[in-house]
Amino acid sequence: MTIKNIVQIGNPLLNRKSKFVASIDAKETQRVIKNLVDSVRYHDLIGIAASQIGEKLRIFVTEVRKTKYRNVKKDILRVYINPKIVWFSKKQIIVYEGCGSVAYAKLFAPVKRPEKIIIEAFDEKGNKFRLKAEGFLSRVIQHEYDHLDGIEFTEKITDMRKIMSLEEYKKMSALKT
Ligand SMILES: [Zn+2]
Repeated sequence: MTIKNIVQIGNPLLNRKSKFVASIDAKETQRVIKNLVDSVRYHDLIGIAASQIGEKLRIFVTEVRKTKYRNVKKDILRVYINPKIVWFSKKQIIVYEGCGSVAYAKLFAPVKRPEKIIIEAFDEKGNKFRLKAEGFLSRVIQHEYDHLDGIEFTEKITDMRKIMSLEEYKKMSALKT
């Protein structure tokens, strides 16, 4: 099992546009997928993109898990290769986001994005799928998708005065639920 360090904000590797995956079966592609799955679990994240482990490929994974302070609907592990978001809802909502690449997910801030999306992608076996996502999964997908284009959520913070530490974020979430 290979656990990768997560590339941190300020490193130009995070600003690169990732390349389309030419062969899903290729050993190299499968190695990146395995590293992403290991990393998302090891670092207790709910999503991670290839650029965050220094790989310039259009791949990310999501695995939404409940935690003590994150009362969200659980979702299975999903792998997205060469994804494309084909539909965004008109309605946009503000949700707090964090990122493994921003102070190791110890900083949170409000970001406005469409509430629901439809994404098309290939899974790790090369099967094409189409997924309508809402709630937290929709949010995670849009965040990871941005990573493929070299965009960090900090570029989209709606109110700089509302940035908070993990500790404060936990307090806020506890109050809400
Ligand atoms: Zn991120």
